Amino acid sequence: MQTLIGRRHEEVVQAIRRLVEIESPSGDVQGSRGVNELLENLAHTIPSVASVERVESLNCGEHLLVHAFRDEANGNKATLILGHTDTVHSRGALHARIEGDRFYGPGVFDMKASCVMALEALRSLTVLAITPSRPVTLLLTCDEEIGSATGQSLVEREARQAAQVLVLEPPASGGLVKTARKGVAMWTVEAKGIASHAGLDIEKGASAILELARQTERLHSLNDPARGTSFNVGLIRGGTRSNVVAAHAEMEVDTRFSTYDEGRRVENLMSNLQLFDKRVSLTVKGGINRGPLERTAGVVKLFHRALEIAQQLGFELGECSAGGASDGNFAAALDVPVLDGLGVDGDGAHASHEHILLSNIAPRTALLAGLIATL
Ligand SMILES: [Zn+2]
Repeated sequence: MQTLIGRRHEEVVQAIRRLVEIESPSGDVQGSRGVNELLENLAHTIPSVASVERVESLNCGEHLLVHAFRDEANGNKATLILGHTDTVHSRGALHARIEGDRFYGPGVFDMKASCVMALEALRSLTVLAITPSRPVTLLLTCDEEIGSATGQSLVEREARQAAQVLVLEPPASGGLVKTARKGVAMWTVEAKGIASHAGLDIEKGASAILELARQTERLHSLNDPARGTSFNVGLIRGGTRSNVVAAHAEMEVDTRFSTYDEGRRVENLMSNLQLFDKRVSLTVKGGINRGPLERTAGVVKLFHRALEIAQQLGFELGECSAGGASDGNFAAALDVPVLDGLGVDGDGAHASHEHILLSNIAPRTALLAGLIATL
């Protein structure tokens, strides 16, 4: 299979280049449509692709749904392949270029090369006349990098109809797939204190800034790396001028956790912050954005299958747990087994040195095709 994929290497690299050159930062409607236009045309050249659907996403562009091997449905649950077409790079920030084995470009690693790879996996199965026992759905959302406000319900709808979800997010260094991901909850904490003159009446004031500073120190002291739990006050603002005790301040807090139980503990803690100065009042807004992807028995089974396939293809495959969340977390919340980090290997996601390794396209495509064929 790798030989077959290798034969299309030039076409595939060209398709990736064209896709990367149509820049599509999240929220860029035109970019999103351009990317989908290209992917739709590519999908229509694959005989096993039954339909391509473009789903409007308000102010973001459109999500893309590709259905393949539909004749095999027979009431069978699908294999869902999940990815996204938006990137974090503003237009003009980076340019595509190849240096040796490295293909640099905006969003090439996270995850445009892998969008093309998924279609190539379907193509190679078609050419080899290998028919998977399940129908295949490829869903590429357009707002993953900004929290999936419109993509989430689509991911959940498709995940409910799937036996397993294969996520095209970048692997960890060395091609490691991700068998666990932390959950994320985001919070805004608003403090209301009492203003007073900093020179004449400082004791009459209740500083909202001081309260949040103390809360910040307490939250950071609760960080527990061994348990995989973290609190980060990443943004803080407040006050009016230096000679006034601040009556108002607010902060934004990012919290992460590895299990649902721990997520509930974090929620409880954030919702019941104890005051240092009783004259100040706190209003806490927020909650869980993405639940954790836990390394369940179903996830381990998927990983072991991937391991077997990689061995047959002649390469080693490792696993790891990731601090960041992906759309895979939404599927995991529905108890569907998820294997994440199946994208093409490279480095520099979200950074200016973002790139993939060209030599890794063929083995990763073969791995994905092998999973689709045998799951
Ligand atoms: Zn991504």
